[in-house]
Parts: sequence; structure tokens; C-alpha cells
Amino acid sequence: MIEAPARAYQYGFLDEYAKKEIRRQTLKAVAIPGYQVPYASREMPLARGFGTGGLQITLSLLGPGDTFKVIDQGADDSVNAVNLRKFIVEACPDVSLTTRAEDATIIQTRHRVPEVGMSPGQILVLQVPYPDPLVVVEPNEAKRKQMHGEGDYARLLVKLYEDLVNFGEITISHRYPTRIHGHYVIDPSPIPRHDVPRLHMADALFLFGAGREKRIYAVPPFTRAEPLAFEDVPFRVEHFFDDTGARRPCARCGSRESFLDEFLDSYGRKQFGCSDSDYCARRQESRR
Ligand SMILES: [Zn+2]
Repeated sequence: MIEAPARAYQYGFLDEYAKKEIRRQTLKAVAIPGYQVPYASREMPLARGFGTGGLQITLSLLGPGDTFKVIDQGADDSVNAVNLRKFIVEACPDVSLTTRAEDATIIQTRHRVPEVGMSPGQILVLQVPYPDPLVVVEPNEAKRKQMHGEGDYARLLVKLYEDLVNFGEITISHRYPTRIHGHYVIDPSPIPRHDVPRLHMADALFLFGAGREKRIYAVPPFTRAEPLAFEDVPFRVEHFFDDTGARRPCARCGSRESFLDEFLDSYGRKQFGCSDSDYCARRQESRR
């Protein structure tokens, strides 16, 4: 009789102690919305900066019966997403995979919230390079901690005001500082401004993992998430207007609601298409 080969790693790759610690810190993050909880980030079989923080949260949560989706810049088929998916297949063999955001119980993402939005019971795990929005105005970590504790974000507002004076508008295109539940301001990771309002009073749980910086934070369901702005200069999302002032459609599926990326067509002309590849493909499918 041939014995099955021993599994190289245990379920979920991380040891049980690591998973337990990450879950505890995640619970703390959910209990204090927007607060950056320190945790002992583990070495992962991929380089820091490629989503180790998000991956550790995902591995601590995934179990038999879960359905998993991973996207990178909105695409299911980019190199980073494909490799993370392969790793999850190895580490969590009985988790099913999907590209449909509606079917997933856990979605790990870099730089986007799925275009179809998130439903109750779903978890979106965001990969975070820089967790602290105050790092641009205060280099000292102890002082930043105090500023967060006191809810003192005056210097961030000054930074936004300087943008207004210099450029006539707030020029932050991603990582837009967002106040959670009326207190802590978070860096919502490099999602475009288009996605920031989706964190507000959402149905789903958003978890943020920064592996290199060793921080976990959360925006729980039904929690206020308000981008920093001024009374007379409200927050606004990217507009994607063409020269005539009309909203550009996606060149592939015709959507006028989605977040658009620029790409060059086969004639070398600049075109705009949905950054969420699954949303776009399914719209094209339904138009046939
Ligand atoms: Zn499209």
C-alpha cells in the first residue's frame, strides 16, 4: 500500500500560535475601528511589499467551506494575484476559489474594492504598504501615536490646505486619509478615491494588513468612514470626463460607473477600460 505523501506545511501555512495571535489582534482592530494594532508579522514565502500583511490575515481566517478571491489592481489574472491564489491552493486545500466577488467569503485585494461592492458577511482583506497617514507630517512614531490618541489631525488638514493653495484642488489620488467612526484617521491603502466612499456604513468587514510595518486595522460594518475635507471644499472622486465634459465609458464594456484605467489599444491609441477585470468581462458577456 502506498501512503499519501506527508503535507509539507500545516493547514494555512502559519502555525496555530501565529494564527491565534493574528486573530486576537484582528478582533482588537474590529473593536477599536481605525486603530492600528501592532502584531508580530511573520516571515512569509514572498517578499515584504508583495502582500505579506494581507496574506497573514487571510491565512488566519480561511477554513474549510470558505470561497476565496484575490485581485491585484482589480485584476484576477495579474502575476501577484495568480501566485497568491496558487499559494492558497497549497496552504488551504479545501478552500474553493472564485473570480466572482459576490460568491467569495473572503477577498484579498491590492489597490481596489471590487466594482460590484461587498455584501453582509463578506470580508475584504486589503494589502497595506504604509499604515500610518500621519507619517507624511510627523516622522517620530511616539508623537504620531500621541496625535492619533488625541485625534489631532490638524497637520494633515494643513497638508490638504497647502494642496488647495498650490494646485487649486486636493491632489491626493490614492491613500486618501479617512476618519473612522469620528476618531482615528486611517490610510485606506492605495485604493483610488473612487473606492473610499464604499468603506462608509458598508455591509462588509474591511481588514487592513501591513506586513512590513507590522500593523492590523479594521473598518467594521456600519461604521462611519469620512474622507478628510473642508466644509467649503468637499471630497470628490475621480471624474473621468472627456474634452466635452461627458463621463468616459469603458472601451470594452461601455460602463459609465466603473473606475477606469488607461491602456493602449493595438493601434497604440490611448483608451480607458474598467480596472476591475471580472466586472468588465461579465458585462461584455451579458452584452453578447
Ligand atoms: Zn469595462
